[in-house]
This record gives sequence, C-alpha cells and structure tokens, in this order.
Amino acid sequence: MSNALTILKTRFGYDSFRPNQEEIINAVLEGKDVFASMPTGGGKSICYQIPALALEGLTLVISPLIALMKDQVDAAVESGIAAAYLNSTLKADEAASVYSRLYRGEIKLLYISPERLALDGYLDKLKELPIRFFAVDEAHCLSEWGHDFRPDYLSLAMLRDAFPGVPIAAFTATATKKVQKDIVRILKLNDPFLIRASFNRKELYYRVDRKEKTLAQISSFIKDHEGQAGIVYRTSRKDVEKTAAHLSERGIRALPYHAGLSQALRAENQEKFNNDDVQVICATIAFGMGIDKSNIRFVIHGDLPKSMEGYYQETGRAGRDGLESHCLLLYSAGDLVKQQYFIDQIADPDEQKKAKENLSRMARFAAVNVCRRKQILEYFDESAGDDCGFCDICTGSHEKINASVDAQKILSAVMRTDERFGLTHIIDIVQGADTEKMRTTGHDALKTYGVGKDKSKKWWRGIVEELISQEAALQDTQAYNALKITEKGRRVLFGKESFYILKREDTLPKQPSDQEDLFAKSGKYSTELYDRLKETRFLLAKKKGVPPYVIFSDKTLREMAALKPVDNSGFLRVSGVGETKMEQYGPFFIPVIKEFLGY
Ligand code: ADP
Ligand code: ZN
Repeated sequence: MSNALTILKTRFGYDSFRPNQEEIINAVLEGKDVFASMPTGGGKSICYQIPALALEGLTLVISPLIALMKDQVDAAVESGIAAAYLNSTLKADEAASVYSRLYRGEIKLLYISPERLALDGYLDKLKELPIRFFAVDEAHCLSEWGHDFRPDYLSLAMLRDAFPGVPIAAFTATATKKVQKDIVRILKLNDPFLIRASFNRKELYYRVDRKEKTLAQISSFIKDHEGQAGIVYRTSRKDVEKTAAHLSERGIRALPYHAGLSQALRAENQEKFNNDDVQVICATIAFGMGIDKSNIRFVIHGDLPKSMEGYYQETGRAGRDGLESHCLLLYSAGDLVKQQYFIDQIADPDEQKKAKENLSRMARFAAVNVCRRKQILEYFDESAGDDCGFCDICTGSHEKINASVDAQKILSAVMRTDERFGLTHIIDIVQGADTEKMRTTGHDALKTYGVGKDKSKKWWRGIVEELISQEAALQDTQAYNALKITEKGRRVLFGKESFYILKREDTLPKQPSDQEDLFAKSGKYSTELYDRLKETRFLLAKKKGVPPYVIFSDKTLREMAALKPVDNSGFLRVSGVGETKMEQYGPFFIPVIKEFLGY
C-alpha cells in the first residue's frame, strides 16, 4: 500500500481516493509544481494535507479566507495533524506561541493569509523555517479575470524566486482557462502537473420551477426538507429580509445575511448557520465565498442569477460531503426583464455586452427543456454525454405540447397593436377583457379580440413567459416593457416554425433518497439513530467550540447509523473515522449506538 493511501486510511478514515487526489499528491511528493482545478467538494484539502504529513518539514497553505482558517485548522487537528494558523485575528501572544512551536518543529501544516506574505521582510523570516511545500488555496484570487480578485495575492508572485526549489501547488474551483493561465504565469509554476477535474456534481439535483408565489414556494420547499441546512439566495437585501421573516413566521429558523448588516452581525449569523443553530440562511451573493460547511442539503435561488458561473458556484455550496442535495431555481421572465434593466444602466459597453451574454445564457438554462446538467457541463466546455437522469428535466414526466396556435394568437395581438403594449394588455385582448383601456384604444375591434376566451389568464401568462424565455418575444425595457416580436417569433407567427411548451408532472422524491452503494449494502440507516448521533455531535461541537461537521460529516453519521458499530474496530470501519477520531469520539458515539440497540 502506498504511503499516501495509508495516511488516507489511518488519519482520515477514508478507504479510497477521490478522482485526481492521488495523482496530485504523488506529483507533490515528487517535487513537481501543480495546478489543480477541482469543483467545490472535490476534496482539495487532502491534496495538501497528506503531503504535509508525508514530507519532512513544514507545509505552508496560503488562503484568503481568514474567517475560515480557524475551522480549517480545527478540522486538521481533529484528524491528528499538527496544524496552526497565522493571521490578523490572532492576538500577539497567540501568534508568538505559534512562532515558537514553528521554530521547535512542532507544526507540520501552517495556514497563513496573503497579507502576511505581503509584509516587508516576511519572506526572509519564512526562510528560517524548513518549508518543503507551498499550497495556494483559492488561487483564482490571483487573477483579475476571476470573480474574487485580491491585490494582496499578487505578493505570491515572489514565492518562486524566494524559494526556488520548493514545489508550489495551486488549487481553485474556478474552471476558466483564462484564470488558469494567469495563475500559472503569476506563480511562475514550472511545467506544472495539470489537473482539470470534471465539474459534474453528481450529487446535486437541479430543478427549475416557474416563479409564481416566491415566498410560498420557498417555504413549502423547505418544509419538505425539515431539519436540513440550506441557503436561500435573493438578489436584493429587501427580499433577503422578507424571506427570512417569512420563514421565521412559519417556524423555520432562518437568519439574513447581506452587505447592509454590520460585519459583526454577519459573522454572528454565519456562525450560527455553521454550527447548525439555525437551519437556513437567507442571503445575497455576498454570502458564501469560503463556506466550508459540508452538510448543506439545499440551495434555493429565489431570483434569476446573473450568470451560469455564479449559479454553479452558489449551488456548488450544497453537498460537499457528497450526499444528495437539491438545488431549486425559481424563474420567471419578469426577473429577466428586471435584470436587463440594470444591465442597460452599465456605462462601459464591453461590460454591458458581457453582462447581457451572461444573463441570456442563464435565462436559457432555466427556460429550455434540456437536461440541466448537460447545459452546465457544456458551459464549462465539458462534454456531457447522455442525459443525466438526475435533474427535473430527466426525472419529471413531461408532456411536450405543441402550442403553436396559442403562441400565434398572442403574437398576432402583439403585431396588430404595433408592438406598443405590455403583456397584461395583450393578454386582455386575447381573452376579450372588457377594460377601460380596451375601449379607449379600440382594441376590442381587433380580429384577435377574445380568441382565447376559453383559457385562463394563468395559461396565457404562461404562454407569454415561454415566448419570452424561448426568445420568440422580448420585453423592451426602453419602451415601458412593450412586447416585441423577434426573428424567431416571426417564424412562429407565420407558421414556419413550431412552438413547444412542456407540461410537467413533478415526480421528485421529497426527501433525498438513499441510493448510494453503501446504504444499499448495509441496509437503510435508522433515522432515529441518526438523529441521536446528530444530537451527540451537536453537544460535543458546542463543548469543543467547533462546527459540528468538523467532528463528523453527515455522511459519516449516516454510515454510522447504518453499520451500527459497537466496538472500536467496527467504529474505525466507518468512512470518515480515522484513528484520532476513533480515540477521541468513539467513547461518545459507541454508547449511543449500544443504547439504541438495547445493549
Ligand atoms: P474542497 O476544498 O475541494 O471543496 P474539501 O477538501 O473540503 O473539498 O472536501 C470535501 C469533503 O469531502 C470533506 O468532508 C472531506 O473530508 C471529504 N473527502 C475528501 N476526500 C475524500 C475521500 N477520498 N473519500 C471520502 N471523503 C473525502
Ligand atoms: Zn438531467
């Protein structure tokens, strides 16, 4: 057995490597530079933690996520790694104690913030330490093309010259090639071992619903995920507050998070979420960078995200432990129009164009009836193969309806009124409504007036939404949202192209199903025991002052509830239990299992 695999088993309690981990670790151990782009949850930490244990001397991890360092170090220490961190949150005496442990060679893994490295003379100070390996986490922060550019990160450019013989590995969850090039160039990586992992998050179920009653849709979804942690993203601060209040009124423990709250309150709310003290965090996209919580079971987007990249990163925060998790996006063409309006205000024409492209790509994702995963992977230039079987398009039973005639009714009303009216009036025409506006415009005399009497307002609204989503019509923000007909719309109107909509029966299982191999092998886990183990974890976490997932992931607890080990060797067999954790936590968890079994 390779040394790395032994460490994986004994320290981390895992049986096998995830894709690419072993290759990356071996490259580092051979002294090579590495560039690795792996999705969130891909298991990047182990790629530098195992070398830290295997190499003589010190491994330095540079990470911008100061707020997270403590949790990361706690988690490493839990697995029996001599780890510590240095950043501005430490008091002088705490930092001094870290330094003296460093000089005594008692630390193998040191996390450090980029600001430190940027300090004058700091690199020289580091040279006194036996550094064998640098890991640069969140390496996309180096690139101005990335979405989180941090000027401080540029000081990392000096690492290569200051430590010519020490391998550097760069890790990022961002997929674009442009960012990759920047990272390799700025860090001066020397013929690096390149890994671009698949961006397919198999454990995520993607689903898009038509947005109708946003708050009610959100709360009913969450009610179906009782007790599970989740994030609700909203675009505006006001909607974040509203959503949090709505959920709280319905007995769901939820807190808001947005840039309008004080730094202290934000940190407090994040921590409560991290520690499972509240179930849901309602947030703007200000929330999430560096969220390490592994047991997030759902991510809801109450509004249309601005880009596929953003959507992928935000949904990616669910399911880091590899367990099935659900992503729900609520979509209406109205959101598209709202966003377009903001884009129209962007002064720089290049930026405006880019924003438009991003948005229309995102809207297409939500609107078209194509496997969601296929669309995501195509976006990242990854070939997707067959339909995934694990998204609303693949699992729902749909009926594809030819709605060409109804589409023509709407489009014809639009054309006959010279593309000057908004959707409400157009629907009124088709339905033959008797309104003041109808009488003053004389539109009740149109040929299309009342041709759609037989169907509901909701139906016609749906047709208009589909026309917009499928880009057969658009709402002109420059002209009071008047409906306009596009090229495609003309083809539909004149019968040169058919127009289809999808009627969907939702056949989604409400709770995540337990189809994983493990649970098939060991029988379904007992939810009652699982809840008791969770309670034990929660109390232990409180006592130790660490987030619960740092002790064991949800996945580990489920496996424990399935295998029901009653002695140390059985306990060690649970994936995620290494020797250190067995010694520390066996005495707390095994009695709970025994009691459950009636020992
Ligand atoms: P990333 O930093 O890439 O988002 P992490 O390093 O936080 O991912 O790992 C995500 C989760 O997967 C963690 O709970 C980690 O313990 C777990 N994990 C990592 N490697 C393995 C493995 N080989 N087998 C099982 N679980 C793993
Ligand atoms: Zn699919």
